[in-house]
Amino acid sequence: MTQRTLAIIKPDAVSKGAAGAILSKIEQAGFKVLAAKLIQMSFDDAAGFYAVHRPRPFFKSLCTFMTQGPCIPMVLEADNGIQKWRDLMGATDPAKAAAGTIRKEFASSVEANAVHGSDAPETAAFEIAYFFSALEIH
Ligand code: ATP
Ligand code: MG
Repeated sequence: MTQRTLAIIKPDAVSKGAAGAILSKIEQAGFKVLAAKLIQMSFDDAAGFYAVHRPRPFFKSLCTFMTQGPCIPMVLEADNGIQKWRDLMGATDPAKAAAGTIRKEFASSVEANAVHGSDAPETAAFEIAYFFSALEIH
């Protein structure tokens, strides 16, 4: 089933100049990029996006990290796109990420882990609408 997911190239990856290499891996894996933009989030923008993580001890640090520089949210589409993108990202903790995954190659820590991906159809719908209007998705 063709499925859309929300990906973000996080500020750590943008600032180290890895955005192009990550986009190349996305295209080589067969995703269609339906939308993309470079933005810088405020703390409140990040807090709204990560609202489900508000009770977690790392919430404030995570929101600060996501605002430290520009990031690139994107809408990706592929067959089984949500799981396919999570498989290409690799485990949250780069120390546990499999060889060939983006986090294995580009993440520096469990927090500064290079990329984000939606984890279910409902979160993908919320997250895509958080960053993009219907007119921005092609
Ligand atoms: P994402 O939602 O960004 O795709 P994920 O689904 O693999 O990542 P989540 O459990 O949803 O992981 O955590 C969201 C983000 O919070 C992680 O990507 C990471 O940046 C940060 N994070 C998760 N666990 C920790 C932790 N123990 N310490 C610091 N930051 C963390
Ligand atoms: Mg998550």
